[in-house]
Amino acid sequence: MKKTYKNYISIFKIICVSLILLALSGIGVAVMATQVDTVKITLPSGYELTVLTNKTNVSEILQENNIILKENERVTPDLNEQITAEKSIVIRDKSIQEIQVAKISESGINTTLEEILDSYAPITEKIVVMQEEIPFETITKDASNSSENTRNKVIRQGQNGVKEVTYKIKYKNEQEIEKTVLSEKVIKEPIDKIVQVQKNVTSRSSTTSRGTTSNGVRIFKVTAYCPCAKCCGKFASGYTSSGTKATPGRTIATSSQFAFGTKLLINGTTYVVEDRGGAIQGDKIDIFFNTHAEAIAWGVKYLPVQVVE
Ligand SMILES: [Zn+2]
Repeated sequence: MKKTYKNYISIFKIICVSLILLALSGIGVAVMATQVDTVKITLPSGYELTVLTNKTNVSEILQENNIILKENERVTPDLNEQITAEKSIVIRDKSIQEIQVAKISESGINTTLEEILDSYAPITEKIVVMQEEIPFETITKDASNSSENTRNKVIRQGQNGVKEVTYKIKYKNEQEIEKTVLSEKVIKEPIDKIVQVQKNVTSRSSTTSRGTTSNGVRIFKVTAYCPCAKCCGKFASGYTSSGTKATPGRTIATSSQFAFGTKLLINGTTYVVEDRGGAIQGDKIDIFFNTHAEAIAWGVKYLPVQVVE
């Protein structure tokens, strides 16, 4: 074009330039007067392009950007519609969308078009390697010879192992939607915990403790006595400190923690606290027998004792 203009006289050239400038400023005013919007167009491939336009009709915007819909493609909003406040045009493969819409309506879920379109977000895949713990197992070995009173002793502490797991993770909208294990490699084997069930050996220190069990039963050191001088010294009279006549199967001596008249269940027999004794302190109980032989035969027992209300 310029070449042809070269032949004209300069005055005409100036007029022309002035006219062009005038036209350009006119366009500028026109552009400023019209609303120019940024519109996002999403193609079926998931590719997004942002265009500047002063048009609001979908088909006009597509035309302006030389986008021609193929037969199997559908555009939202529709070709003859105006773009919405979201300023977004989405082109999708019609067949896939129809299948999806059919599926959703079949399951009876109310879904907006936006939600359906949203489910078409491109899916990305990542290969991720993670280190994970392998929890140890607990092996129980019974060495109690089927005794009822047993305790568990830890022979060896367990230790978690470590493995390296390679996952294939699928993301959609940056959300994990599928996780598949591709391979696993053990880096460190776990060490099993070994517990041995052993026969519980009752020790005196545990049975003489003042601990009260849940049902109010306490373990007492239970000995026996008779009205002889060996057992009761020079005060041997056959009568108790409370003034009653000592009676086998009923009379017991306790410390002052139990008032006279308190009934205690020991070994299936209900005794009555009627006596005291210099050696009967703390969690000790003395059971009355008629003869010294019976008292000796009883010996020393550690027994559960329960107060009878
Ligand atoms: Zn005696």
